[in-house]
Amino acid sequence: MRILVTGGGGFLGSHLGDRLLSLGHEVFALDTAKDFKVRHNLGNPRFHYVKDSIFSKDMLESLVRRCEVIYHLAAVVGVEHYVEDPYSVLNVNINGTQSVLRLAHLYERKVVFSSTSEVYGRNPEVPFREDSDRVLGATTIDRWSYSTSKAACEHFCFAYARMGLPVVVVRYFNAYGPRLDRVDVGRILTIFMGQLLRGEDLTVVGDGRQTRCFTYVDDAVRATVAAGTLDEAAGGLFNIGTMVETPILELAETMIGVYAGLTGKPRCGIRFVKQEDVYGKSYEDIRRRVPDNGRMLEVLKVRPEVDLREGLRRTMEWFLEEQASLGGGADRVVTPAIARKGTAAPAGSAKAAR
Ligand code: UDP
Repeated sequence: MRILVTGGGGFLGSHLGDRLLSLGHEVFALDTAKDFKVRHNLGNPRFHYVKDSIFSKDMLESLVRRCEVIYHLAAVVGVEHYVEDPYSVLNVNINGTQSVLRLAHLYERKVVFSSTSEVYGRNPEVPFREDSDRVLGATTIDRWSYSTSKAACEHFCFAYARMGLPVVVVRYFNAYGPRLDRVDVGRILTIFMGQLLRGEDLTVVGDGRQTRCFTYVDDAVRATVAAGTLDEAAGGLFNIGTMVETPILELAETMIGVYAGLTGKPRCGIRFVKQEDVYGKSYEDIRRRVPDNGRMLEVLKVRPEVDLREGLRRTMEWFLEEQASLGGGADRVVTPAIARKGTAAPAGSAKAAR
């Protein structure tokens, strides 16, 4: 099959491309990013990297016309964007998705839309079922721009489904693995990674008892592929993630242990920091985020297989190799650990959703 992956140069999108290629498909990856995360596929005649924006109307239309299935992952994602550039988050995610859905409807193509566990917000009742409530804060809190943008996209998906579009929605829960962001930027794992490389203390926000369910990328990708290929998945909405809940403090301790084991370096310490010092006032943290993954197990028939320690080992090995290939060790990583300024993506940026 010919398959379009928007955001195909991002973290999830690049892994999804790998998997689709290994299954024998032809992949068109659309992304504004450089081809850094897909360079290993550039020589493959079944892989086509299109460095362009989902706002490039003609390009998007020609790709939708040529492909049978569209995995729509292009989005502005990352806490640094929610708090610094909510306009791009809302504009790219909502208007970009509308363009994709409109064309898919016109050409009768199947769409898998990548949404997020952020849509549940800070609903205290975990685990979240797909039909659980969304509990968000005020619109003056920029953090909720991402959750709101993805939920609006989901509404568009379901509205188009009523008009006959075959569409499946998947919600990822803290997917991680090799090629996740860059060190120091984006999500907790890459922030901790940067700190480990420099031998600094890991900055745990608050008391570190807030939890996440870290889902290894290969497990998330297998479920994503199933969502686009299984007839039983048609029209469905799926949580994609493990139900194993990890407190952030435990994540820090595990990462410190795995890193020391891999490198033989002394163990780093932990430093507790205030939420405002990292994110400013325009932010609200989420205490617990746990999926009910029953539908994923039963309908998509995918069971998470990679536990946190093994996933962290694979991820860290990748970052260590990257550092080595950049011609330096930890001393090359100079960005202050919790400096998150100046990382906003340009409008139209295509990056995989978390
Ligand atoms: N966090 C932390 N230290 C940091 C950055 C983040 O303890 O240096 C915490 C953050 O407060 C949150 C969790 O790690 O509770 C996960 O944050 P992330 O930015 O990865 O994304 P989220 O899951 O909140 O969307």
